[in-house]
Amino acid sequence: MASSALLAIIEVPHEKRVRCSADGCGHSVYKKVHLVRVDGHTQVYGSDCFAKLFGESVLGRSEPKYGGTNGRLLTPEEIAMLAMNTEHLVEEFEREHQEEIMRLEALRIAKTERHSCLQRIQATQTPLFAHPPTTTMQSSEAEAIARKRLAERFPGVNIDLAGFKGLLAMEISKIIRENAG
Ligand SMILES: [Zn+2]
Repeated sequence: MASSALLAIIEVPHEKRVRCSADGCGHSVYKKVHLVRVDGHTQVYGSDCFAKLFGESVLGRSEPKYGGTNGRLLTPEEIAMLAMNTEHLVEEFEREHQEEIMRLEALRIAKTERHSCLQRIQATQTPLFAHPPTTTMQSSEAEAIARKRLAERFPGVNIDLAGFKGLLAMEISKIIRENAG
């Protein structure tokens, strides 16, 4: 069964239950209905028959090609397709699958573009300590002094809070300027 694949696990309302394709089964199934591609045809199996037929195989442990393992409840249109022509339903799943891939790809491209845009902006900004006005003062020294000053000016306040970042940076560059030359 080289061409076999688990396509989807679906659910239909009880009154729309479908017949299990397993030989000699004949049960009507509606929950955790397994759609399996076998030799080019889509077969419908209840979860018991699926486990019996494929449980020991790689296919039995595989993720469905479309959707998750929870058993997606079909829409009325999909239920009609399942009853009339299962292959059409699988084609529909494939179409959705391709759409999802394209959507994720578009999202990925948008994200990459935003990212490189951000990098361009950062590259054009002059870093604070790129050309320190002094060679004697280390930025770590300046930061220590800046923290001390701010702590005196704002007693009991946590300087590491995000809101103080700008203030701290300003204070540091001020101290470096003060100590320049
Ligand atoms: Zn069955």
